[in-house]
Amino acid sequence: MKKIDRRTALKGLAAGGLAAGAAAAGSNARAGGHERPQPPPDAVGMLYDATLCIGCKTCVVACREANGLPPERDTAHGGIYDAPIDLSAGTKNIIELWREGDEWSYVKRQCMHCLDPACVTACMLGALQKREHGIVTWEASRCIGCRYCQIACPFEIPKFEWDEANPKIVKCELCNHRLEKGQIPAC
Ligand code: SF4
Ligand code: SF4
Ligand code: SF4
Repeated sequence: MKKIDRRTALKGLAAGGLAAGAAAAGSNARAGGHERPQPPPDAVGMLYDATLCIGCKTCVVACREANGLPPERDTAHGGIYDAPIDLSAGTKNIIELWREGDEWSYVKRQCMHCLDPACVTACMLGALQKREHGIVTWEASRCIGCRYCQIACPFEIPKFEWDEANPKIVKCELCNHRLEKGQIPAC
């Protein structure tokens, strides 16, 4: 998909909202018909083994510290300190407990850096892109806060800073700031 810069896009949006809608619809049509892409040869990934996870949530704290995010309170359960119950603009990684009858399992939720990411297809400005090592990154200077990416992601991963005057889209970027220094993801 051809990427356009923020200024050009804003002009286009001001000229007519329908144009934006048509562009998004066109992207979706191509997404439905194209061949499955192959991962880059240097693609990285993260294995989460639910059979080994004990739900201690140390990875949630490590993610928060590595990404400079403040602790959250679980307001639904008495305000437990730093025990978020869902992903949010302040939490990029969470461990959930799933139960069905007597069966249960912990499940780690974060961006999965999809091979064919719906969020990237939806973002007509190219703020979200699949980059080196297959990591899906977000670029503030290209984002206009339309939140199409939030609607497009089938896993409800991208979050929006509703409380900020200049809000950002927040999601895991596989700690690419750490990978650049030869470190592994904090979680
Ligand atoms: S935000 Fe959603 S669609 Fe985009 S790469 Fe992550 S999991 Fe995939
Ligand atoms: S809100 Fe999402 S879809 Fe819209 S410009 Fe920003 S990253 Fe792209
Ligand atoms: S890779 Fe980094 S940003 Fe992503 S969930 Fe792990 S610690 Fe958080």
